[in-house]
Amino acid sequence: MPTLVCVSILVETVERASADAVLAGEHGADLVEYRIDELFSSLDDLPEVLRLVEHSPLPCIVTCRPTWEGGEYDGDEDQRVAMFEKLGTSDRPPQYIDVELAAYTRSANERMKIDLAVDHATQQRDLYTRLVLSTHDFSGRPTDLTRRVLRMQDEPAAAVHKVAFRARSLRDNLELFDLLAESPKPMVALAMGEHGLISRILAPKFGGFLTFATLRDHSATAPGQPTLADLLGVYRFGEIGRQTKVFGIVGWPVGHSQSPRIHNAGFAEVGFDGVYVPLPVAAGDDPETSYASFKATLLELVEHPRLDFSGCSVTLPHKENLVRLAREQGWPLDAVSAASGSANTLVVERDDRGGVASARVVNTDAAAAVGALARALGSVPGKRVVVLGAGGVARAIAFALAEAGAKVTVTNRTPERAAQLVADINAAHPDAANVLSWDARETTTTEAFVNCTSVGMQGGPAPEESALGAAAFAHLPRGTVLLETVYAPVRTRLLSMAQDAGWRTIDGVEMFVEQGAKQFELWTQRPAPREQFACLVRDALNG
Ligand code: NAP
Repeated sequence: MPTLVCVSILVETVERASADAVLAGEHGADLVEYRIDELFSSLDDLPEVLRLVEHSPLPCIVTCRPTWEGGEYDGDEDQRVAMFEKLGTSDRPPQYIDVELAAYTRSANERMKIDLAVDHATQQRDLYTRLVLSTHDFSGRPTDLTRRVLRMQDEPAAAVHKVAFRARSLRDNLELFDLLAESPKPMVALAMGEHGLISRILAPKFGGFLTFATLRDHSATAPGQPTLADLLGVYRFGEIGRQTKVFGIVGWPVGHSQSPRIHNAGFAEVGFDGVYVPLPVAAGDDPETSYASFKATLLELVEHPRLDFSGCSVTLPHKENLVRLAREQGWPLDAVSAASGSANTLVVERDDRGGVASARVVNTDAAAAVGALARALGSVPGKRVVVLGAGGVARAIAFALAEAGAKVTVTNRTPERAAQLVADINAAHPDAANVLSWDARETTTTEAFVNCTSVGMQGGPAPEESALGAAAFAHLPRGTVLLETVYAPVRTRLLSMAQDAGWRTIDGVEMFVEQGAKQFELWTQRPAPREQFACLVRDALNG
């Protein structure tokens, strides 16, 4: 049975909830969950609940989550249980009621009433309510998770088992995938919070009974629920099956990345059975702790026997961690990754039984930048290119330019980093690079600049500023080439100034699309739909 999409609605009034349920159905939901925690306070409200169910345009789950399990209902427990009993035995019962394992197993009396709500007599009328037995933990993985699951399995009245807890890291999702795959009954196993998004998107791959989505960005009834539009539109939930290969973007933060948008659309365009998801791996101030968490997570993803994890993009701040891990694991690195110590792509090939056949690491940022510069300059060998910055992207691009035969000049706010980068390049390519002081960058003579600083980046250190001032545009000729790597916003101050001065500009979207296209081709072995990628990114960033 395909995994259902359920829109969860926090009911304030019957009319508004019914209207939202209609919208949910129109936009592709299979069922709705009515969270009546606030609508219901005592049996006096029963007629409203009955009216809600009666007018539901979709099959529904009725949930009245008490405060002690993370909900809003703080009324009398007997009234809540009596409400379920009356709902289940009414003329128009809901398809499902959700009752917490703790409530169901607390007393024989409560259990009896719930059983009555889902009992055989109502089934004979072919109108019956099924019991979703649920357990939640909003703080983290419950230490007694296994015991809770076994207790659910001991309850014959439960038609569906549901487990939800806040994920502390991506690794928590993997345990939930195993629970789903091994469950004797239909099961919902979801991780809450931003680390849990993949449990919601990948539920069909492991036979999950349903996943929850929200109609609007702000209307989630649990942390981390995707919108219905993203679930069905961006992640192509309906296309995900047991064989689907999993890719993603590893970084911190990754919530605003455009990569899921382009890769998932690309998979659809070329008919590739894959899905691309955000893979947040937290990083703190201590590089060793960040590396430890990156390593542990990535190895578990790669080695998980059921996940079909087939590769990922890696972004800030883990690009150097990827090279370090590759070295430790003996995974081959391409020349730029090995030389620069920074990489953005992992390609994992799997054998027929889901094992790892091979893993390798590539830097597509550098190839994308050098390709764009080669087109703008005619060719790269012998051309002078000034690289602004000495961080991860600067290292990769500067190394690739030196490898391609350019005369590379590196200038950086912190001069020691520029000097180190130049020394590293010259060790591999003698005399290919030299250092320029940061203050001299605007008066130097060059055929091209590449901005690899984060100056101009939205949310970055200096969003309104430009890495080059007016002096540079005053003395360098029209036609000087600028590659701006920053792509959010698309039109940075630097880009505008260069365009006004008649320079030949390449914006960050062009590089972003090309680095993504190269990843796509490594993973799928099919040509990437570059124009589609560019339209999607420009629409998203301009919109
Ligand atoms: P990074 O390792 O953190 O390096 C940041 C660089 O910016 C360093 O050289 C840093 O200089 C410099 N910098 C930061 N604030 C500055 C300021 N106020 N004034 C002058 N210089 C400053 O970052 P990264 O990974 O290399 O990424 C750099 C940029 O590349 C980002 O903006 C990102 O958007 C872009 N990028 C684009 C693509 C694409 O596909 N278009 C792909 C990847 C990255 P110090 O050494 O002095 O700190």
